Amino acid sequence: MDGLRIGFPDGEAVRGVSFDLTAGEVFALVGESGAGKSLTARALLGMVPRVATVRGKVLLDGGPVTPAHLGRRVALIPQDAMSALSPVHRVEDQLAFAVRSVSRAGRREALSAARGALAAVGLGPDAAGAYPHALSGGMRQRAVIALALVNGPALVVADEPTTALDPERREQVLTLLRERCAATGATLLLVSHDLTAVRRDADRVAVMYAGRITELGEAEPVLERPVAPYTRGLLASLPRTGLPRRTRLPVLAGAPPAPGAVGGGCGFAPRCPGADDLCRREEPVLRAVDGRAVACHHPSGEAA
Ligand code: SF4
Repeated sequence: MDGLRIGFPDGEAVRGVSFDLTAGEVFALVGESGAGKSLTARALLGMVPRVATVRGKVLLDGGPVTPAHLGRRVALIPQDAMSALSPVHRVEDQLAFAVRSVSRAGRREALSAARGALAAVGLGPDAAGAYPHALSGGMRQRAVIALALVNGPALVVADEPTTALDPERREQVLTLLRERCAATGATLLLVSHDLTAVRRDADRVAVMYAGRITELGEAEPVLERPVAPYTRGLLASLPRTGLPRRTRLPVLAGAPPAPGAVGGGCGFAPRCPGADDLCRREEPVLRAVDGRAVACHHPSGEAA
């Protein structure tokens, strides 16, 4: 992805995002709602709203991403499993249909592949032959993982894939997703608010704010020793496991700007305790700082 910009009539929601994905890695996009992370991820699937204008390059296998890649080379795991599954078809039939839509497999062969994919996520014959409404939320999300992986995609985009689940099932489903992607060699792009999961699962992370990347690098240094003020504020404000009970988390004051509302300076300046005249005048660009890329004039409070 190189210089991705996604514009709407009221302004740009993604403003020049660039990153490469490495085969087999888990790459996480994090940030507050409205940061542009879901739109950025969906650009990799060619699933940007029709009203939007898209500029920049989104390449897969050296060529542009097209709708023909969907389900074959790239796959989506959405937040709501029910939206990915038809309520009127048995789960195994839906996977078999997905297999036949990209191959010449016969019905029996496709059904066998479907059952194999469902077994690999822990869904046996009873669940495979059921309608989605008969499955629990966790089982439905497992079925969606199987559906996404049944054709062996190179890239799986998981957009807040476990938000609807309770914390215990969330971890189980994410662990399964990571393991299945590792087993098939698929790259996993994880869009998530769940920093505990990102810490556990991601190899690299990009922190987005106001349609841009503000910090990008290996997950461990970015999440354990963030240098961008936005990353530090975000991490401090989000709940995570391991905190003593009744811990009061600091609040990240203010709200992200609406698309089109970022002026000439840093989009985070109105909320940043370290903002100065330079920040309000010039929007920072990504540069190498302490082993990661950071878009900030004063990372870690560095003087101007
Ligand atoms: S550029 Fe300035 S306002 Fe923006 S995050 Fe860095 S210090 Fe804060």
